[in-house]
Amino acid sequence: MSQDDTALVLFSGGQDSTTCLAWALDRFATVETVGFDYGQRHAVELTCRAPIREALGRINGWGPRLGPDHMIDLKGALAGVGTTAMTEAVAIAMTAQGLPNTFVPGRNLMFFVAAAGIAARRGLKHIVGGMCETDYSGYPDCRDDTLKAMQVTLNLGMQQRFVIETPLMWLDKAATWVLAEQLGGGSLVGVVRELTHSCYLGDRTHQHDWGYGCGTCPACELRAGGWDRWKRSEKPRG
Ligand code: ZN
Repeated sequence: MSQDDTALVLFSGGQDSTTCLAWALDRFATVETVGFDYGQRHAVELTCRAPIREALGRINGWGPRLGPDHMIDLKGALAGVGTTAMTEAVAIAMTAQGLPNTFVPGRNLMFFVAAAGIAARRGLKHIVGGMCETDYSGYPDCRDDTLKAMQVTLNLGMQQRFVIETPLMWLDKAATWVLAEQLGGGSLVGVVRELTHSCYLGDRTHQHDWGYGCGTCPACELRAGGWDRWKRSEKPRG
């Protein structure tokens, strides 16, 4: 098997990374996953990962392509960096810099450094992340330029030829639902709805058409808004 046919997916258990995992399974012969425990308030998302992997393995014959899962503990590292609304029970608000206080400075950059270390060890070429700058929370580490620069940095710093793939970069949240349907039909849409987690507050007690969540935090609003726009844009089936 060629190394060109291998990928490592940054897989949190949310809607975006689950769609990215399906995207990778659709394209590559060997796909491994990596998750990060950084003390997130919505650590419940980590418990969603194994059931999602299992469910994706039953779609489109993807099971044999799905390799091992890796889990990296960054709790100490990111707790040492400082308090944000993503990791502490403080209200979600905008900061003086114009960034939401759910932004964890350095988080995605650390994710990629750790993921690339695993990819180097495992001989995996494509590193896939669900970052998006079309319909997002304003995080500067989700920008296309950030990730292109990261690819160059990792390749120089680790003497590799990684390719960072961001299939959602130019999609809005409605288009992300469309992509899920294209990749895995109703089965994949069902997995995304029922099994993935996006809510920043970690709420899995309230169920909506678009999945579980509090319904009011920025992550729920993005997910619900995308679902509504997708449903409105669907042509009635005759
Ligand atoms: Zn929420």
